[in-house]
Amino acid sequence: MNILVINCGSSSLKFQLIDSDTEEALGKGLCDRIGIPGSFISFTPRGKDKITKETEIKDHNDAIRLVIEALTDPETGVVSSLSEIGAVGHRIVHGGEKFNRATIINEEVIKAIEECNDLAPLHNPANLIGVKACMDLMKDTPMVAVFDTAFHQTMPEEAYLYGLPYEYYEKYRIRRYGFHGTSHDFVSHACADLLGKPYEEAKIIVCHLGNGASISAVKDGKCVDTSMGMTPLEGLIMGTRSGDLDPAILEFLCDKEGFDIHEMLKVLNKKSGVFGLSSGFSSDFRDLEAGCKEGKANSIRAVKAFSYRVAKYVGAYIAAMNGVDAIAFTAGIGENTCFVRKMILEYFGYMGITLDEEANQKRGEDIMISTPDSKVKVFVIPTNEELSIARQTLELL
Ligand code: ADP
Repeated sequence: MNILVINCGSSSLKFQLIDSDTEEALGKGLCDRIGIPGSFISFTPRGKDKITKETEIKDHNDAIRLVIEALTDPETGVVSSLSEIGAVGHRIVHGGEKFNRATIINEEVIKAIEECNDLAPLHNPANLIGVKACMDLMKDTPMVAVFDTAFHQTMPEEAYLYGLPYEYYEKYRIRRYGFHGTSHDFVSHACADLLGKPYEEAKIIVCHLGNGASISAVKDGKCVDTSMGMTPLEGLIMGTRSGDLDPAILEFLCDKEGFDIHEMLKVLNKKSGVFGLSSGFSSDFRDLEAGCKEGKANSIRAVKAFSYRVAKYVGAYIAAMNGVDAIAFTAGIGENTCFVRKMILEYFGYMGITLDEEANQKRGEDIMISTPDSKVKVFVIPTNEELSIARQTLELL
């Protein structure tokens, strides 16, 4: 069956058509600047060049219409008609406590997702616009919601509760939810396979290090902790997000800089992380790596702080699981930045982790980067969130 995977933001829509038999993407693309001047669609059919068309995209219905046109185009399309698309899997950011797995979308599910909007006001409403546009234009095609938060719903209370008055959890469901669930799910399963251990018996730490970054601890087939919290701001130092900090800093900085709370949050989300630490040099590890090689102090301090924070979380999760069998690195930085992996793993010499320097230079495939005698195995596993969404969609149908 061909499954269309949709990841819809407020002004962009990413899509991929996946053949579930071969698990290959038949085509993938992006509608960008939806509702904004300069909108365009780009589409790459498998094995062919990218086609980009500048065209007015008024709203998400327009975008979905263009996606269907691109996929079914007689010359450059990848299917001959809409009937060859068996289902649509939608990425939904926040499922709150209502969803601990993917679910078939109906009116009731849409309502329940809307009830989670408060928890992800920038993402969930945009995700739902995509769902509704697809439902309008593909009336007979089943739709499935796959949540970023669902994988982490197995966390025990001691991991998901904050040290706040309990009434705030009761009244507002303020707790740790975690994100990047489809990636942590996909990579932890692949890691157990590479380890040659049943998923239900393995202790795995997944480091999803992209522009947004999070770590999860997966024990006996269940996520037991993760670094992102009620929102994706908590945890690691990220591209532009601060991650953990003393909450009293917020009041202090608001007083000193004259920020209101919204401006403060903008600083924490958009101007912090390695971007802020490098004094605004870059949030991209390609630039930071070059900066480190040139001996630039701004890049060195940012990368060191990033790596140290990752190592601290890995250490904490080894304690949380009372051991670890394997550590997996994934996402843009985790898959590509070997010098950062090396910096992180150097903190774990005491655990008997030894790095295979040559293997650590490779990229683009599942690979073990620890030496055969390393007590804990370390892998690089390219993530594939779209395939994970397609698999979950198929499983439900
Ligand atoms: P997100 O999905 O959160 O936007 P990605 O997983 O795509 O993030 O990761 C993006 C980041 O990965 C970039 O900002 C960059 O820091 C890093 N990255 C991507 N490719 C490379 C590369 N070839 N070498 C070093 N870093 C890379």
